[in-house]
Amino acid sequence: MKKELFANPDLCTGCNRCTIACSAKKEGVFQPSKARLRVTNFPLRGYSVPNICFQCPKANCLEACPTTAMFRDGSGVVRVNRDLCSGCGSCVSACPYGMVEQDAKGIPYKCDLCEGDPVCVKECHAEALVHATGDAALFQLKAAQMKTRPQSGTPLEKRHKIAETLKRSSRG
Ligand code: SF4
Ligand code: SF4
Repeated sequence: MKKELFANPDLCTGCNRCTIACSAKKEGVFQPSKARLRVTNFPLRGYSVPNICFQCPKANCLEACPTTAMFRDGSGVVRVNRDLCSGCGSCVSACPYGMVEQDAKGIPYKCDLCEGDPVCVKECHAEALVHATGDAALFQLKAAQMKTRPQSGTPLEKRHKIAETLKRSSRG
């Protein structure tokens, strides 16, 4: 069984070690806004939500791409072929979870699970991020997170809507 990335907001401390490590690995800068995962913090409520790409089995980002620049590799990871990308941004609008963004040249970037060894997981000392084959509890957690699918808004707005929903269902 292949490993998947899981996030547990109830364990996340909002420290952003994951996003800092990700941006350092992928872009060579310590800048959470360049990371392939994000953390939505509600500092006044003491709650944080790691937003991750689910490598969706039916991936809207991939289906929306008119040039086949978005593709799924043999291990199930949805990737971007920069050479085929026209920079149209359809994938950005299509991802309901706000997990594709465009760089300064308009080329999208997203999580590729670091070739099977995600750096965010290694940095998360709270164990809010797990890369594993998964058990029933983890799959249930993921299914609950995937239920909220904002159809409009910027990636940031979508992530915030999802995080709000998770916060409400966790804290009542
Ligand atoms: S970028 Fe969005 S739509 Fe594409 S696989 Fe990841 S979560 Fe799914
Ligand atoms: S490293 Fe872990 S605890 Fe810290 S923000 Fe990321 S997911 Fe949350």
